[in-house]
Amino acid sequence: MPMEPRILSAHRPVSLVLATLIALGSSLGPAAGPAAAFPSYDSGYHTYEELTSAIRDIEAAHPGLVKVSSIGKSHEGRDLWVAKVSDNVATDEDEPEVLIDGGHHGREHLSVEMALAVLKHLTSTYASSESTRRRVNGTETWILFNLNPDGTTFDGGGSTYRDWRKNRQPNGGTSAIGTDLNRNYGWKWGCCGGSSGSPPSENYRGPRPWSSPEVAALKRFVDGRVIGGRQQIRIHLSFHSFGRVVVWPWAHTGAGVPDADDRAALAAIGNEMARLAGYRGMQSHALYPTDGDQIDWMYGGHRIFSYTVELADRRYPPDEMIATETARAMPAVQYALDYASCPWSAIGRGSVHCPPSWVKRLAGSDRYATAAAISRASFTPGVPVAYVATGTNYPDALAGGAAAARDGAPVLLTQQGSLPSATATELARLKPGRIVVLGGPSVVSEAVRSKLTGYTGGGVSRLYGADRYATAAAISAAGTPRGISVVYVATGTNYPDALAAIPLAARTDSPLLLTQPHSLPYATARELDRIRPGRIVVLGGSAVVSDKVLDRMRVYTAGAVTRIAGEDRYETAAAVAVPFPAGLEATFLATGTAFPDALAGGPAAAKHGVPLLLVTPSSLPPATAGQLRRIKPASLVVLGGLGVVSDEVAAAAARAAR
Ligand code: CA
Ligand code: CA
Ligand code: CA
Ligand code: ZN
Repeated sequence: MPMEPRILSAHRPVSLVLATLIALGSSLGPAAGPAAAFPSYDSGYHTYEELTSAIRDIEAAHPGLVKVSSIGKSHEGRDLWVAKVSDNVATDEDEPEVLIDGGHHGREHLSVEMALAVLKHLTSTYASSESTRRRVNGTETWILFNLNPDGTTFDGGGSTYRDWRKNRQPNGGTSAIGTDLNRNYGWKWGCCGGSSGSPPSENYRGPRPWSSPEVAALKRFVDGRVIGGRQQIRIHLSFHSFGRVVVWPWAHTGAGVPDADDRAALAAIGNEMARLAGYRGMQSHALYPTDGDQIDWMYGGHRIFSYTVELADRRYPPDEMIATETARAMPAVQYALDYASCPWSAIGRGSVHCPPSWVKRLAGSDRYATAAAISRASFTPGVPVAYVATGTNYPDALAGGAAAARDGAPVLLTQQGSLPSATATELARLKPGRIVVLGGPSVVSEAVRSKLTGYTGGGVSRLYGADRYATAAAISAAGTPRGISVVYVATGTNYPDALAAIPLAARTDSPLLLTQPHSLPYATARELDRIRPGRIVVLGGSAVVSDKVLDRMRVYTAGAVTRIAGEDRYETAAAVAVPFPAGLEATFLATGTAFPDALAGGPAAAKHGVPLLLVTPSSLPPATAGQLRRIKPASLVVLGGLGVVSDEVAAAAARAAR
């Protein structure tokens, strides 16, 4: 253990100091050995053990509001405690989340006291204060009390402070201890002269991003708050000391964040929190440049409105200041909680960025989980049949989607060689009467088909042909009676037209057949010949299904062969929606630029008897807006995560629908 001159200058005999340090070092864990204490004049600060007890006592006194867990362990094995504060705290409710942390830097003990003060405030005033109840009930607040318990314990563990900032992780090849946790984040790590590459430095960034177990644990926790394609944490406050300032990203550059509304809202919230506390507010870089720091990763990696709050006006505020300094900053915390549901409302742009509550997003961590989420939202256990298609291409899922819609059944997705856990979980919930695999063994293996038999009592069958056209024909042949009133035909070379057609096809229990743009596949022609439908409806304009192909189909019906088409996929989907009446319970929205998140949407929309419209990831096409204005659905169902349909597009759709 390295000795520093100030430790040896303590008034106690050197031998006793050494013995104490050796004892501390050998115990290397909070559970064993004597608890480290603060210098006697500052005993009002909480040691790690006292903090742990205080948190546990508050949890025990408010079991419905506080739930304590550990996000991981420090280098020396101390638990990194986090308390979740909310009504129905045991349930992960769909409420905006706020993260508050303290203790990045060992010697900044007031930051840990502030985190504890927030927990005390929210719980002790819950019964008496209407505004506290609103904040607690309306958000899920995570309080990570001390990210660096090894550093704070070491700093406060003597008769006087050790002025220790970093964690207590050894560095290979040197006796220098510790990494500056707030330079160890993997966003612009070490980019810009705002940290040190030298282990003895107070600002040592570590050998690589996330190298400290404490920061790595925080990363796992924050990454884990991405649920249903959305980061749940909207606002983050990191308490440090000192300076009485509130700062926001970026820290690594003097440039503001690129998005103009984000830039303005970051500043508006930061400045107001500063004003409420009697602090100064500024962009972090203006205070001093740092890189690899927490708030840049929070915003850059997760678009969390992230703030560093430097408490107090001196490095070691005496414990007499704990109550006054934490009370002084509390209004800033209250303000952050008030704006967590939509930070952009601080600049009057809430309706642009935050969809109203009647917009529901169905999404998972990947295409399989998204399909499962879509199924879960629309289908109840005991469905007669579930269809399972490959998630790596669209034709089978879409042709099967029309059959599923007819049967009141979902489409779930699988990998070729293994059944994704999200799909398995949903099948276990659905308990389908039987399962139909769409496609041959080259797209859904025999191993997967065999595994599926465990999720139904009614057996697992396959429908497939030699190619996508023959597979669509086989799906149709399995359930379409001769002489059905109408058959829909879409291109097999892209997905949007076929996807949008499913809810319309479901109204007449019609099949969806596929065609090449310039020639009618033999399997499609043969199935049309078998059915001899009353009429045929082609999706899309002549660029996607040529007039020649349309003419070729005339021999298979005594009725008309017509098109539902627009200038592009968005207009075509809007045209498909025209037969649906206004005042529907919902309308589904999917991206028109990537199929994976949309594949399961057709049967779900059909189940509700509502259309499916298309958007781009970043804009609401006019034709889509026009149908939303006409239909005025009571709710919107968005398929997929923020990457395929942004909140801004969902919010624009909501405005069009009202
Ligand atoms: Ca004192
Ligand atoms: Ca709650
Ligand atoms: Ca939640
Ligand atoms: Zn700090």
